[in-house]
Amino acid sequence: MQYFSLAKNAPAADFKTATILGQAPDKGLYFPETLPVLSPEFIQSLPRISKNEMAFKVMKPYVGGAIPDSDLQTIVQETLDFDIPLVPILSNIASLELFHGPTLAFKDVGARFMSRCLGYFSKSLDATITVLVATSGDTGGAVANGFLGVPGVEVVILYPSGKVSPVQELQLTTCGKNITALEIDGSFDDCQAIVKAAFMDSDLQQKLFLTSANSINVARWLPQQLYYFIAYQEWLKTANSTKPPVISVPSGNFGNICAGLLAKKTGLPLGHFIAACNINDVVPQYLATGNYASVKAQPTISNAMDVGDPSNFVRIMELFSHSFEGLQQVISGDTISDAITAKTIQEVYAQTGYILDPHGAVAYKALQNYVKEHPLEAGFILETAHPVKFPEIVEASIGHALTIPAQVQPLFSKEKISVQLPASFEAVKDWLMPG
Ligand SMILES: *Cc1c(COP(=O)(O)O)cnc(C)c1O
Repeated sequence: MQYFSLAKNAPAADFKTATILGQAPDKGLYFPETLPVLSPEFIQSLPRISKNEMAFKVMKPYVGGAIPDSDLQTIVQETLDFDIPLVPILSNIASLELFHGPTLAFKDVGARFMSRCLGYFSKSLDATITVLVATSGDTGGAVANGFLGVPGVEVVILYPSGKVSPVQELQLTTCGKNITALEIDGSFDDCQAIVKAAFMDSDLQQKLFLTSANSINVARWLPQQLYYFIAYQEWLKTANSTKPPVISVPSGNFGNICAGLLAKKTGLPLGHFIAACNINDVVPQYLATGNYASVKAQPTISNAMDVGDPSNFVRIMELFSHSFEGLQQVISGDTISDAITAKTIQEVYAQTGYILDPHGAVAYKALQNYVKEHPLEAGFILETAHPVKFPEIVEASIGHALTIPAQVQPLFSKEKISVQLPASFEAVKDWLMPG
């Protein structure tokens, strides 16, 4: 499998090169040159095969021989080493819980897959790879945990001091080993600007083998397809409906939903997709009007979706051969305000006992709106974070405290270790430069 750059001004790359570089040299996103076609036999076998067998078969064509089968089998097994249950909420709405991983975020799957691929590739590179990443919260924890102890890879995470939640900070700063947290005296935008400057800096480029771990990387984007295959396996077992499920995806950079659309395109029998957004709704606006206009992101209570110019939108357009009509047939958008999000958490808890996090609540409301218009349809939301990651909002909506899950408990007895630096590229560069 070869990948081409969507900016169309860089050579094609295999999976190894695309993973190591992250972004193509022309700053475009990598996209598969040909899409695999799932055989009807494979689709029919899905209810019977294990999730590891399924995952290996789905990922193999994308890896295209860059990793031997036995290593890829180990990688997918380690990637999916936790539950991804499809939990019914109402007769026509279920929740695919993606938050049972080590950092309680759906980003665990992509981070774990990518880390192990990079670990494999670093063996033949004869160099230490330095992963540099800025985080506003969830990405950093998933990346830190995913890369912890992976040989040949050093991880440096920049986070804005005092602007991530206590649990998130502990997830970033207590790993040790090959993970270093740089606590920047500034905002998330400062952290991101410093990371961007580092990738442009020729001194650093010469001295270090730098790469990023954001959702642009094919090794983080592509394994997200696996959620949809797991959900389909479960849907066939549990759903009251024989129709393909409608899927509502809480979306920010649109990596997750784009992976689902890719799974559908290659033959997985999925129904309609809903791009569920908070007020940062560039894509729902586009789907309604045909005009794409990026904006400056506004802060909301579903903050992992506060994105004003979703990076994976170009991949979605490519998947639909830039046909607006083609896109409109498969995906619709919805915009859910903070007030409605909080009200949804409250109402769903009162009605069913199910506790949504703010991101899942955005998806839930959008799906509820859709099935109201289409009463014969049923489907599920992707619940992307554990409610305990947003305690103030959720506890205010449900009226009592949340129980801390087992994965998080040990964090509270660990010591935070960070390197405090000013929000200056020069300071971070000095720290990064060897010798
Ligand atoms: C990252 C994130 C999202 C958005 O996912 P995209 O792939 O960027 O659209 C949604 N919910 C949570 C909790 C996240 O961390």
